[in-house]
Amino acid sequence: MLRRPLLASVPALIAALFAAGAAQAQEKVLNIYSARHYQTDEALYANFTKATGVKINRLDGKEDELVERIRNEGTASPADILITVDAARLEVADSLGLFQPARSKLLEERVPATLRTPNWFAFSTRARVIVYNKAAVKREAVQSYADLAAPALKGQVCVRSGAHPYNLSLGAAMIAHDGEAKTEAWARGLVENFARKPMGGDTDQIKAVAAGECGVTISNTYYLVRLMRSKNAPDLQAINAVGIVWPNQASWGTHVNVSGAGVLKHAPHREAAVQFLEYLASDEAQGYFANGNNEWPVVKSAPIVNKELSALGTFKADQLPIGDLAKTTVQAQKVFDRAGWK
Ligand code: FE
Repeated sequence: MLRRPLLASVPALIAALFAAGAAQAQEKVLNIYSARHYQTDEALYANFTKATGVKINRLDGKEDELVERIRNEGTASPADILITVDAARLEVADSLGLFQPARSKLLEERVPATLRTPNWFAFSTRARVIVYNKAAVKREAVQSYADLAAPALKGQVCVRSGAHPYNLSLGAAMIAHDGEAKTEAWARGLVENFARKPMGGDTDQIKAVAAGECGVTISNTYYLVRLMRSKNAPDLQAINAVGIVWPNQASWGTHVNVSGAGVLKHAPHREAAVQFLEYLASDEAQGYFANGNNEWPVVKSAPIVNKELSALGTFKADQLPIGDLAKTTVQAQKVFDRAGWK
């Protein structure tokens, strides 16, 4: 049997906690599988327990591994909630039938309609923006995603793999707005403009742009804010060398992705699970949850206590319902494959 790293590395303690939770049905517990690992999330879980008396057992892992684990566990799964990032990944989990509807008036009231589906809810948002080298590229030349495919930027584009969910979700949004043919032409132009083969994550691209290895890239906003908040001189130098553009302000808006969660189909503690999602939508939790990864809360009244994040300012965001991205994600992968965006 193939043993995945996650399965092999589950601390015995957590396994014991889950077992204890199942054995003592009286004790109020909630089992969370999480692909978010941020220090500030700890405070969030502790506050929920304090407010409700529900003890949280958490299993951290990579998205794909957690999804695989839930599928393998089937009806015997102890997991109540899956928390992860990226709309496409949440939709994959949903399309595999892992979630159940979490009907809640409170969630419907507080989470905007474009940021939820019947089965899962977004709790924070991040935007996919254009980052350019201020000394090498003119801001006016990179105002839209389409601009990145213009022949004028030949040899200037660095970007992570076209197979990565962040780019697939962007491609899915482009297909939804502009159609497949236009998106494929765009991807081909983008590949033509590559300064190097796609490698590394968004932060690696930002640093390459700052170093002048390339002129422009696409990045999620929280990576930029993370660099802004860094105590590390090279990080600050890098962030000072680049400019940030909200793409597509003159058309459908900047592509936005999410971090989200849903109640799992075989959740042993359904009531506590819905209660936890409602807690995540409270002003207090929204502040923690979003600030923990330098993202924006989905609830408008929630405070943003993050001056670097606030310094990014406001922008016109794409209003495509977040659950709709999945409808064109597979198509986006095929389009990027044909265009050679590996
Ligand atoms: Fe990320």
